[in-house]
Amino acid sequence: MTIAPRPWVNDIQAYRPGTASASEDGSMASNESPLGASPRLGTALAEAVSRLHRYPDPLARELCAKLASLHGVHPDQILVGNGSDELIFLLSTAFLAQGGHAVCAEPAYQIDAISAASVNARVTRVPLTAWTHDLDAMSRVRADIAYVVNPHNPTGTIRSLAEIKAYSESGAAGLVVVDEAYIDFTEDPGAMTAIPLIDSGRVAVLRTFSKIHGLAGLRIGYLVAGRDVIGALRKVRAPFSVGTLAQAAALNALEDTGHRDAVREHTLRVRSELTSLLAVHGLHAVESHANFVLVPVPDEAGFVAAVAAHGVSVRPGSALGAPGTVRISVPTEAGLALLAGALHHVLPVNHLETSDHR
Ligand SMILES: *Cc1c(COP(=O)(O)O)cnc(C)c1O
Repeated sequence: MTIAPRPWVNDIQAYRPGTASASEDGSMASNESPLGASPRLGTALAEAVSRLHRYPDPLARELCAKLASLHGVHPDQILVGNGSDELIFLLSTAFLAQGGHAVCAEPAYQIDAISAASVNARVTRVPLTAWTHDLDAMSRVRADIAYVVNPHNPTGTIRSLAEIKAYSESGAAGLVVVDEAYIDFTEDPGAMTAIPLIDSGRVAVLRTFSKIHGLAGLRIGYLVAGRDVIGALRKVRAPFSVGTLAQAAALNALEDTGHRDAVREHTLRVRSELTSLLAVHGLHAVESHANFVLVPVPDEAGFVAAVAAHGVSVRPGSALGAPGTVRISVPTEAGLALLAGALHHVLPVNHLETSDHR
């Protein structure tokens, strides 16, 4: 090689994706929507196809207007990105490059640490306490950006709006980025969201269309923040990163509230069934407010391999910074049955060593 990466790039631990399962129902590794996208998506995309010879609207104005009215903010307080991951990288470029400092939990969402490391920022990781963000310990770290994933990934735990408000007011971080990728799966998303805190100038909120809206393959998310933050990010972004199809799909997703409600209802119900199923087998999931559960298991690699043999793909916790656990995304009804069958065969081997092992 005639050119070498910057020295800090060599130290980055590249993102480790989940492995797709052989079957749709067996896919429980990546927190995707078990019910897919809105059934009206095809029509919305077909209509947008006629505009594909044109560049997309770089500011996604129609979508921003719709999101602004949904959240009670001004369109200038929203930036749409190529997935929320792009927005996390933009935050690093604008606020962390060349000597910045980010604080996040340990374990954290991988992208938060990778994006900060990519611009040679310092990253302080604060261990979770009882699987939740230790905001007291985080408030003792002075940082430019603090990442609070709420509900957290990979644990599914939450901090209250009051706790996040108090943390942002501690002034420890220049900007608290609250990643609400899973907020729709909490008991009361309207009361949970940190969007009302953005006017303080200390809080920004990330949202995605990848989870409840089932558009992970299309890549679209958004940030809600003060005008200054949005203005800085607009300067460093690639102007056409969010394509015409993604904008059309997101608009359709916001209009199809029936599908969104169905995904939410399914997720909450099957999450509780999944938790009960695991408990029957002696496994106690961390109480989750997201579309997945984190489960401590005696033999992580053994569990992952054993359910894989039954067509079920789950995420090994050690790939997510939580060794000794597995993360299981809320599946379809058929997926839950598949998992039940797998556990029936697997657990006597791994845990109970009983004679009913067939
Ligand atoms: C899934 C997820 C996202 C979504 O990222 P996209 O780039 O929008 O697909 C963001 N944050 C967290 C913590 C997630 O788990």
